Amino acid sequence: MPAIASSKSYRVGRSKTGLGLFATMPIKKGTRIIRYFGPILDSKIPAHDEIENKYLFELNGRWTIDGSVRKNLARYINHSCRPNAESDVRPRERKVFIRAIRNIEPGDEINYDYGTDYFKAYLKPIGCKCESCEKKRKKLRAEARAEAAKVKARAAKKVAPKSTAKKKKLNGKRFAGKAGRAKA
Ligand SMILES: [Zn+2]
Repeated sequence: MPAIASSKSYRVGRSKTGLGLFATMPIKKGTRIIRYFGPILDSKIPAHDEIENKYLFELNGRWTIDGSVRKNLARYINHSCRPNAESDVRPRERKVFIRAIRNIEPGDEINYDYGTDYFKAYLKPIGCKCESCEKKRKKLRAEARAEAAKVKARAAKKVAPKSTAKKKKLNGKRFAGKAGRAKA
């Protein structure tokens, strides 16, 4: 049996994108944190097949968990492209558990990867807001700014070649100095 986290080891709280589930105690890697539960829908029943909400968790081609019930606190867990938990899907038992794949510290938001289908349908159109994607976007923006600055500098060089030539010499000197120190 895997280690099972007590229901006191997490709480619903405010996240960047609304609500999320946060650890209140250390949760060790491999621990079963919470069950994702709700009514089981059978795709062979037309009325079930018509149910549509963001919290449907497909177990396989036939069975789906409707996680939109309020008691299902696991529905507050947000997606991350670089998560600290994963979904342990058991179609035969028709159960899903969320399990820690890293050690989680108190205060950390608990995340798992919702998978490609969900990502394409819901996250890609609006842009994924997970920490990993935000970091990537920040980096890209910084690179774009640096590139723009370079282009600007190049343009300035064309206008005033003398001043930039001076700068270059200075840079060369500074560089030599650093290399010298590193050797010593
Ligand atoms: Zn992401």
